[in-house]
Amino acid sequence: MKKIAKIAAFAMAALMAVSAAGCSSYRSVSDIQNSGKLLMSTNAEFEPFEYKDGGEVVGIDIEISQKIAESLGVELEVTDIAFDSLISALQSGKADIVAAGMTADDERRKSVDFSDPYFNASQAIIVAVDSEIAGPEDLAGKTVGVQLGTTGDQYCTNEDGESEYTVGEVRRYNKGMEAVSDLMAGRIDAVVIDNFPAEKLVANNPDAIKVLDTALTEEEYAIAISKGNTELVEKVNAVLAEMQESGELDEIVSKYIDAE
Ligand code: GLN
Repeated sequence: MKKIAKIAAFAMAALMAVSAAGCSSYRSVSDIQNSGKLLMSTNAEFEPFEYKDGGEVVGIDIEISQKIAESLGVELEVTDIAFDSLISALQSGKADIVAAGMTADDERRKSVDFSDPYFNASQAIIVAVDSEIAGPEDLAGKTVGVQLGTTGDQYCTNEDGESEYTVGEVRRYNKGMEAVSDLMAGRIDAVVIDNFPAEKLVANNPDAIKVLDTALTEEEYAIAISKGNTELVEKVNAVLAEMQESGELDEIVSKYIDAE
């Protein structure tokens, strides 16, 4: 009986959230607290922000999410899904937050809200060590691998015609690692991916591939939250601010980034 009452209460709360937001369904902070779990979705193919170590998903975003869960007094539940499904996981209420090295951009702001930024990043270019590609201008006419649905994909696909540099053909992969394998096999000419994952991918194969010095974009990572869930955005911002002020965020970042 008790369980049924709890489920009914959840359904009511979800319904109310849906009508309040107009379209997206989300759990309020008290729904999350009552359930005892913060649902975080990510794509664990993005070292050092989220990746698998043994069977476990670890990384900078996981530690930040742990802190958010702790501040709410609940457990963190991490779900690993495809990067291009993350926004719909928020919209359908399957996730309360998305922490995935996700760049806060205007296109995504149409569908989700973002926390304050917590990390500066850019799109980097990976090429073979002996490649003739020395900078972004040399990507013209070349075949470039990107991760499906990312800002690197948007930049190279250049649908809005705003990218400073153009590429020949874009190949889309679910994982950055798959793009790098094709690069090393000579099937594509370059990979465009976020700078820190690029460094990690190259560190595993330093004799075969390298990261070019010039970055293509300037971006900021933020935690994505269902549109309209202002209360949760404020909670997350408070945790991020505290982690920034105490130096804890820097400590976490250097644990994963400098620990080479
Ligand atoms: N920062 C990029 C984006 O938001 C890539 C993120 C990722 O692949 N996890 O699109």
